[in-house]
Amino acid sequence: MSRTQLIAALRSPVRPTVSVEFFPPKDAEGGVRMLKVAATLKPLGIDFASLTYGAGGTSRDTTITYGAELVKMGIPLIGHLTCVGHSQAELSAIIEQYDRAGFSGILALRGDPPKGQTDFVAHPEGFAHAESLVRLIGAARPGRFAVGVAGFPERHPDATDDLADIRFLAGKVSAGADFVTTQLFLDNDDYFRFVDRAHAAGVSVPILPGIMPVLSLKQARTFCGFCKARIPDALVRELEACGPDEEAQRKVGVSWAVRQARGLIARGAPGYHVYILNKAESAVELFAELRA
Ligand SMILES: Cc1cc2nc3c(=O)[nH]c(=O)nc-3n(C[C@H](O)[C@H](O)[C@H](O)COP(=O)(O)OP(=O)(O)OC[C@H]3O[C@@H](n4cnc5c(N)ncnc54)[C@H](O)[C@@H]3O)c2cc1C
Repeated sequence: MSRTQLIAALRSPVRPTVSVEFFPPKDAEGGVRMLKVAATLKPLGIDFASLTYGAGGTSRDTTITYGAELVKMGIPLIGHLTCVGHSQAELSAIIEQYDRAGFSGILALRGDPPKGQTDFVAHPEGFAHAESLVRLIGAARPGRFAVGVAGFPERHPDATDDLADIRFLAGKVSAGADFVTTQLFLDNDDYFRFVDRAHAAGVSVPILPGIMPVLSLKQARTFCGFCKARIPDALVRELEACGPDEEAQRKVGVSWAVRQARGLIARGAPGYHVYILNKAESAVELFAELRA
């Protein structure tokens, strides 16, 4: 899928854009599992997949290897890329590899500090912020990639206030980003307040909301703690009502995600990006419910 087609899909008023996020597997067995999940989801009407990029450059090769496999399966791919530990020259080389691997787009990210570090420290010949990476991608391969950036409905944890955070988001879009994918959130009001702030700051590109069917209360607390997303009390109550029954909790997670996705589309979101955690079951149920 070309950049133009991907952007057209994101902007289509006819049907919502649906994407799913994978992370690169740690070993060959995980790779087989991941590609099986991709094969299961492909016929369900996903527009594209995205594949994360690990901190410290650890999964550079696996993002390219498995991204290329997804492309070969006919799944348009957005490869994530972070500034962590990379010089500009290294980032340029990776952009070239993404080009050769047939990726449709790049999600340009700063990345989080590597394990053991609290603050982000830019490579001496690299970038301190995602905005510079957006510019590099545009300069290295003009018009080749659909370029996405991250947005944070509940504000980026390092940001001092909402306005500053949105100003920086607007900076990434002015630098050339074609769309925004958001951090996961579990309360749609957080997304719509974020979209209002973004529009007020002049951001007019599609803002694709990120949702995650939670697997259990324990998993949600761990994951949301990591990305600083709030778990609404109503969801906690629904999950707690299941007691220790993990399958019942997973079903609650799917049902919450279905209600979120319906609410998002009803109020004008361009689609939804699903954090599937490399698992098919909840995503299959989510898409089936939404089709019904
Ligand atoms: C959809 C999505 C996908 C992700 N995928 C990955 C992944 O694959 N790999 C990974 O390691 N991480 C990933 N992350 C996590 C992300 O890398 C971290 O959240 C990181 O801390 C911020 O990245 P960013 O691109 O938003 O950074 P930036 O946009 O650079 O922002 C980082 C912080 O700096 C501030 N800021 C931005 N620009 C400026 C500026 N010009 N001057 C001063 N301050 C500024 C922002 O307000 C923010 O507080 C993802 C996040 C999301 C939402």
